[in-house]
Amino acid sequence: MTNVFLGIGGNLGDRRQMLRSAVTEIRQVIDDVRVSALYESAAWGVTDQPAFLNAVVRGRTSLPPLQLLDAMQAIEHDLGRVREQRWGPRAIDIDILLYGTEIIDEPRLSAPHPYMTRRGFVLRPLADLAAGLTLPDGSLVGEWLTTVAQDDVRQIEGPGWADERDIEINDG
Ligand code: AMP
Repeated sequence: MTNVFLGIGGNLGDRRQMLRSAVTEIRQVIDDVRVSALYESAAWGVTDQPAFLNAVVRGRTSLPPLQLLDAMQAIEHDLGRVREQRWGPRAIDIDILLYGTEIIDEPRLSAPHPYMTRRGFVLRPLADLAAGLTLPDGSLVGEWLTTVAQDDVRQIEGPGWADERDIEINDG
């Protein structure tokens, strides 16, 4: 089993519900899922679009990297990802941030995710789950966090926002 970290984000429709659905589907695929707090941040890249909600999911899997990617892309597809523009609006985006300690450089998959150490909206939730985590190059998540701007990354809900029990309460 390999420890994996996934970044999830979305800025269309009911963003919180979309992320909760993503976590529910991710639980079907990987084991021992833990979820960070929920964050809101201004759009990155193409800035003329709604703000994003982001979180990080941690878990363990026996799936090889590309099969994990396939599974995450199937979830994106399931949840109706709109994908017209690079860095444009999307209902749900799931990135593989880390696949254990592996360095993967394939056409379909780069891990660690190339932008993860530069984005506050990834590092903040990642640090919730693993501030002391060492990346494959020996650097620390907690140290990267001190190097990025975080003023536009706002925690809007603590851990527990994606709890399954919560879903039943809300539905009932
Ligand atoms: P994006 O539209 O930015 O989410 O990019 C999706 C594309 O990035 C897909 O075609 C993936 O094959 C590729 N990709 C490369 N590395 C990763 C990664 N670590 N996690 C998710 N997608 C990745």
